Amino acid sequence: MRETLRQLSNRQLETLNVIHKKGLITKKNLQAITGMTLTTLNRVMKSLEDKKLIIEVGTSESTGGRKAVEYGVAKTGVYVIGIDISRTYVKLIISNLKMTIIKREEFSMNDSFSPEITVEKIIGLIDQKLLELSIDKSEVLGIGVGTVGPLDREKGIMINPKNFFNENWSNVSLKEMIEQKTSIPCFIDNGANAAILAEYLFGNGKDLKSIVYIHCGIGIRSAVITDRIIIRTMNDSEDAFAHMIVESNGERCICGNKGCIESYSSIEAMIKRFNLRVKGSNNDEEIREEDYKKIFDLALRNNEFAAEIINKGAEILGIGIANLVRILNPQLVILCGPLIKNYKLYYDMCINTFHKINYLNNEVIFSKGGRFKEDAIAIGAAAMVIEHYIAK
Ligand SMILES: [Zn+2]
Repeated sequence: MRETLRQLSNRQLETLNVIHKKGLITKKNLQAITGMTLTTLNRVMKSLEDKKLIIEVGTSESTGGRKAVEYGVAKTGVYVIGIDISRTYVKLIISNLKMTIIKREEFSMNDSFSPEITVEKIIGLIDQKLLELSIDKSEVLGIGVGTVGPLDREKGIMINPKNFFNENWSNVSLKEMIEQKTSIPCFIDNGANAAILAEYLFGNGKDLKSIVYIHCGIGIRSAVITDRIIIRTMNDSEDAFAHMIVESNGERCICGNKGCIESYSSIEAMIKRFNLRVKGSNNDEEIREEDYKKIFDLALRNNEFAAEIINKGAEILGIGIANLVRILNPQLVILCGPLIKNYKLYYDMCINTFHKINYLNNEVIFSKGGRFKEDAIAIGAAAMVIEHYIAK
């Protein structure tokens, strides 16, 4: 199937790409978008049908006139694998060309998960799930991985990501490890870029041109699409926004600076700040990073330290977002990740702070979780593979 796609002409690729992005489309609308003559379009579509890449799906809703036949991409025969490697978990999805998830698996990470053990477990899952679904490896276009930066994207190397529970996550040749063991091409990007791609192409950001995606977990990870282009940072790291300084002479950050968003708003920072406060007090016990949920349980039970630290973290994030919105003027800001999903307290405080200090006459919309919620990184990673083959 990879070879079939590689051999498509520009017109075939363009047509397939439009059908893929639109989901369902009539020939008339395809003609309007591609500008091809009907004869050319008929020929192109016939060849795509023969290659089993597109199918006639049904007819469009009647708007008074005749119903028109709609086309979509094939539901079987072409598959992609999307993997989200985060610090606390790994998620794997198998999707068809339509971007429908047909299998989803997840496992938690702890300090025993070295890169080798993690990749081994991923490969095991891929083999097992493909077998269960009776999918041959030749039908898999590729494996996309959204992971933690900084990266050497071309070589597929995770350079020195911070805060993995296992200490061996440094200079990890992820692409090579996966390709050697599966013989399937692998593409990597940072998780935030993968997620924003999913939302931009198929989710809440569809038809918009400028969006911001912020994932709040162990670290604060972000991605930006401005004027339909992903803005890439140095080494494709996803923590550029996280190290925006919002308090001069504030908390010492892991980057060496003081007062970064990361040093207040991430899980890592909140646990660190809580444990510092707890030291020397007889009332509370220190919390391990893996047990970060405890800090929110404490806050909900009116623990003063915990509530203060969470409120401060969310407030600082709100200030950072106001700064970012001022610079980029996005149409949509998607907030996601365990802190957003699980703790209303944190999300509400962040949004309220933003509205208090945002005096721009803009119409930025906030989305809690976007369309794909916690699946966004894995779906975006899968979409990245398809983009490699069909988008120009
Ligand atoms: Zn920093």
